[in-house]
Amino acid sequence: MRTNIASILCGVIAASGLTRAAQSGTPIILISIDTLRADHLGIYSYRKIATPHIDSFADHGTVFSHVDSQIPLTLPSHTVLFTSTYPFQNHVEENAEIVPSTLVTLASVLRKHGYQTGAFIGSSLLARRFGLDSGFDTYDSPFNLQSDETLGPYSVRVRRDGALVTRAALNWLASKRGQPAFAFIHLFDLHTPYSAGGLIPNTAGYDTEIKYVDQVIGHFQDALKRSGWWDRSLVILLSDHGESLGDHGETSHGYFIYQSTVHVPLIIHWPGGAGNHSARVDEPLGLIDVAPTILNFLQIAAPSSFAGSNLPSQTYSESVYAHDAFHWAALRRLCAGTLEYIDAPQPELYDLAADPSELHNLASKRPDETRRLREQLTKLRAAHANNKPDAAKDTSPAATAALRSLGYLAGGGGSKKGTAEPDPKQRLPEYQAYEKALTALYSEQPAAAVAGFNRLLAADASNTLARYYLGEAYVKLARPNEAVREWRVAIQHDHNYAPAAIAIGKLYFAQGLLDKASAAFQEAVTLAPYDFEAQFELGRTEERLGHYDEAERHLALACGFLPDSAECQRELSELRRKMK
Ligand SMILES: [Zn+2]
Repeated sequence: MRTNIASILCGVIAASGLTRAAQSGTPIILISIDTLRADHLGIYSYRKIATPHIDSFADHGTVFSHVDSQIPLTLPSHTVLFTSTYPFQNHVEENAEIVPSTLVTLASVLRKHGYQTGAFIGSSLLARRFGLDSGFDTYDSPFNLQSDETLGPYSVRVRRDGALVTRAALNWLASKRGQPAFAFIHLFDLHTPYSAGGLIPNTAGYDTEIKYVDQVIGHFQDALKRSGWWDRSLVILLSDHGESLGDHGETSHGYFIYQSTVHVPLIIHWPGGAGNHSARVDEPLGLIDVAPTILNFLQIAAPSSFAGSNLPSQTYSESVYAHDAFHWAALRRLCAGTLEYIDAPQPELYDLAADPSELHNLASKRPDETRRLREQLTKLRAAHANNKPDAAKDTSPAATAALRSLGYLAGGGGSKKGTAEPDPKQRLPEYQAYEKALTALYSEQPAAAVAGFNRLLAADASNTLARYYLGEAYVKLARPNEAVREWRVAIQHDHNYAPAAIAIGKLYFAQGLLDKASAAFQEAVTLAPYDFEAQFELGRTEERLGHYDEAERHLALACGFLPDSAECQRELSELRRKMK
């Protein structure tokens, strides 16, 4: 059984003979390079490109060779990182869900201990409105998630260049000289679309972006050295998840939970005077263990809600993406030592020491170990079970547009009870065909998209998302009647699928058919009374119809769901002016 990370670091601290006073107030600089696979860095033995600056964090530092992401999606993974809770505990299992404000975060603990706290964000996926800002004095996420209708639905700003993120962080650090400071830096440059173009992840484009990020990190590190922060700070470099780049048939991340998306880098640079430390730690640990590790180093007691340090010998990961989108099975994974178990209708067991690419499923050959790991997985989930309701979701048009422009789809309806859920790996060809049709849709090739979605629906008429996007493709082809027909069928198949009713309403609204639009939005709020977009669009439509009281009721509800939506506040105050 391995020693846990906390005890390794206790060992580090004990060996160094540091006093408590020497560590308290140590600056913490936490860098998350979004979408960075460990095995594309030189320090993790990658040879196709050089990453000298990132690798140099390991000089007088510690490289952790076996670190797992608990969930390969940006907002959920950072929620794990900051709250040290499992996704099934905190209920943030998809992007655009709202992080519950009741969760204790690393930033809030550090602030309570006198730290100045600042976050510098590279992507709208971590925009302030999603709630990850809890505990930060400064949360610099300049993403105005209000769609600009004059520029089209995908005009929202969704990312910030790494050079600008690090510059903002350096300016902030310069103002905190001599104070205990915690800076979180989020770099999003590795995520598609790449700067050289291309919506679909590929190794060449990905490696080019890594070389760029390595330079950004080099400049940042130089500036930290010049200003004295580098030597005084605990600097942590990690990633929230990897990128599949074709491994196991997946191109990006979120669908599967294999090594390509779950294995992430973690390199810790210790402050000067931190004494002896291991150059390399091979024991498995998770991103969930990072916050307890930082607090442990600072000799600050971890809050009881932190689950990370209680897990001495195993790491857990999950993906519920295929389940939420298509009603296929959720995937859950437990890694213990070199054995990796993936719980799915057709279970998988890999020996990562002998088979790091997960090509030989040993589940039927080694049934005892498979059963043992399944039992441990069940036990872990039961020990951290949480019956709280699912997290609220930001369904505003701008947030949805931002998600789409980054290649994330909107989720489907609720799960279907009583039918066995298919294994995502068996439905992979379907998923690939779906992604291809979606890419065609977003690359302004609606005819190809219609053909692709129709092929999918011929094989499985209950694929609600395919039908939803088929409707969008028909709209782009100026065939609105067919769009409405498909969306009607979607609602028939999937009884609480409000997005289809909203789409019908928006189409009628655009055509000036306000009564029909109102009826469709009424249907949407009946299907999903807590949906921002449904209430907002119904309010706007009632206003155009001159039904001001009705309009005010729905707009007030919508603004209550998303208090920081400037779009909603503007609409409501204009309405109230008219009502006077
Ligand atoms: Zn990410």
